[in-house]
Amino acid sequence: MSCKSCQSQHQRNFGAEIAIHFPGLKGLEKPLVWLFPKPLVCLDCGFTEFTVPEEELRVLAQGTPL
Ligand SMILES: [Zn+2]
Repeated sequence: MSCKSCQSQHQRNFGAEIAIHFPGLKGLEKPLVWLFPKPLVCLDCGFTEFTVPEEELRVLAQGTPL
């Protein structure tokens, strides 16, 4: 699979902890949504992709905590 941004083959999976917060001042009142993805990072241009797991995706879509 090649990078979707620059078509490089120079990509690698890493471990990560990502805390997503809702935007704006209202977002500060909501808890962070933690993800532990294995992002695929393009080592040439920096384009990174990962998939939000189903349960956390529901939280982001509905705006309500687990
Ligand atoms: Zn790239």
